[in-house]
Amino acid sequence: MKYALVTGGSRGIGRAVCTGLVPLGYHVIINYRSNDAEAEKTLAMINQAGGTGELMKFDVSDSRQVDGALNRWNEQHGDDYIEVLVNNAGIRKDMLMMWMENDSWREVLSTNLDGFFYVTRALLKNMLVRKYGRIINIVSLSGIKGMPGQVNYSAAKAAIIGATKALAQEIGKKNVTVNAVAPGFIRTDMTSELNENELKGLIPLNRFGTPEEVAEVVCFLASSKSSYITGEVISVNGGLYT
Ligand code: NAP
Repeated sequence: MKYALVTGGSRGIGRAVCTGLVPLGYHVIINYRSNDAEAEKTLAMINQAGGTGELMKFDVSDSRQVDGALNRWNEQHGDDYIEVLVNNAGIRKDMLMMWMENDSWREVLSTNLDGFFYVTRALLKNMLVRKYGRIINIVSLSGIKGMPGQVNYSAAKAAIIGATKALAQEIGKKNVTVNAVAPGFIRTDMTSELNENELKGLIPLNRFGTPEEVAEVVCFLASSKSSYITGEVISVNGGLYT
């Protein structure tokens, strides 16, 4: 069996990636932090699509929880290893920097950036030993161009872009690729309070994107068809100027 882990796989873009990985033949491990009902729904969707999966609840920003859950999984799975990792779990807490509290800075940095570090480090060794792996980091247009009101979030996503490029060079020889996907405005819970009618005028394709449109690119990068692409950032943003 081939295994893929999607952090923040229970809702939004993560859910679309989870179901998108089924046709690639992956048993999908759905990570999430708190919302059991939504995670169960994603698992049911995977099963309906003819695939298999399992839930793995942990907070990506807590290194002990990450190592605990992934070490347990490894102990239970002998020679199996997780060959596809999609670092998708993320939050935003927007505020002009002048008013930003320490907590909003730290929580956004720790979920988005520390989460990437803890989960990737935990899975890297097996990918290198087995000489095959795909790591896809979900970043954002904010990490490329910067967004006012999102100094914390833009900093976290830009840092992951730097890490993507550095790690790609570290591990390319072992046939493990690392790429980033940078969505623009996508219809999920994260953007539910934004006014699409007002904002769509900024977007050449004149609408927000769907989670499935992001998942298509993620799943291509997760497949063996992307074998000569590493260290790249691919935008999925309807043509929004970057
Ligand atoms: P979403 O609908 O809010 O879903 C977030 C997911 O992340 C949920 O599954 C949530 O699990 C999980 N999560 C949050 N904090 C976590 C933690 N500490 N540990 C483990 N899981 C955690 O978000 P989305 O819009 O799909 O965004 C997914 C990714 O795309 C994020 O990295 C986001 O920054 C990025 N992105 C989104 C947009 C957009 O327009 N939506 C644009 C650019 C980039 P629970 O439900 O259990 O909390």
